Amino acid sequence: MDCFNVTILGCGSATPTLRHQPTAQVVNFRDKLFMVDCGEGTQLELRRHKQKFQRIGHIFLSHLHGDHCFGLIGFLSTLGLVQRNGEVVIHAHPDAEQVFGSQLKYFCRDLPFTIRFAPFSPEVSEIIYEDRTLRVRTLPLRHRIPTAGFLFEELPRQPHLNIARATALNIPISDYVAIKAGADWKDPSGLLYPNETLVAPAAAPRKYAYCSDTVYLPALIPLLEGVDLLYHEATYLHELEALAHERWHSTAREAAMIARDAHVRQLCIGHYSARYQITDELLAEAQSVFPNTVAATEGLRLEL
Ligand SMILES: [Zn+2]
Ligand SMILES: [Zn+2]
Repeated sequence: MDCFNVTILGCGSATPTLRHQPTAQVVNFRDKLFMVDCGEGTQLELRRHKQKFQRIGHIFLSHLHGDHCFGLIGFLSTLGLVQRNGEVVIHAHPDAEQVFGSQLKYFCRDLPFTIRFAPFSPEVSEIIYEDRTLRVRTLPLRHRIPTAGFLFEELPRQPHLNIARATALNIPISDYVAIKAGADWKDPSGLLYPNETLVAPAAAPRKYAYCSDTVYLPALIPLLEGVDLLYHEATYLHELEALAHERWHSTAREAAMIARDAHVRQLCIGHYSARYQITDELLAEAQSVFPNTVAATEGLRLEL
């Protein structure tokens, strides 16, 4: 199976602590690296966890709160120092170009690569990246400022040709592409072999959803239906539900309710309030609603 994994680089919230870095993670899909949020300290975590960060070509910023983007300028500056070339695309709220543009002009003149801002509207779910194998769409979240999550969707793969059967039937290799694309096959005598007798279906496409920061938002459930992995913020324990809502965040129980109701395969919670010395209680609370939950920690790699 082609690689598809997520490495957590930071899972704390706004107040820096020695226990957790601010939010950042790297999605690796078939060795293409995508950065999701870029809090302060991200580039050190990239090195600590041995990420080949020159390969990052797209950066997705959920919103313009500092704990999700204060690491961006430093990271881009370092990409210049290591002589990255080509293009880096920053997918973010339309304000990002103005916010970071002046800093880039001042600190990052003469970069050996180009930076392109690709603005999106956080209010609607839209496709913001697509190649032959992967699509990324936004997930409208509800937070103090405009915020979007991201859904990484593997595109459906072609079925696998049954090589043993193809060999036994003497199917010419030149016909393989058409059969994998869905064609039936006729042997020289005119006997027809239906496509489904020649191929095995590919595995179901995998999906990763990132939802931080947000209040408890049941409107997300249909958009998250059946994802393999959901990262959802769980800033507080449910005993602080009122505070969570006042600050536009979710509790661990609420994150788990979203995971349960969207029938996701696995939940990873993060974006912990600095008040929690350890995450055991947050994890236990989420697991009481959705057992297949893990607690994010820096360096954790989750395979899809
Ligand atoms: Zn945050
Ligand atoms: Zn925020």
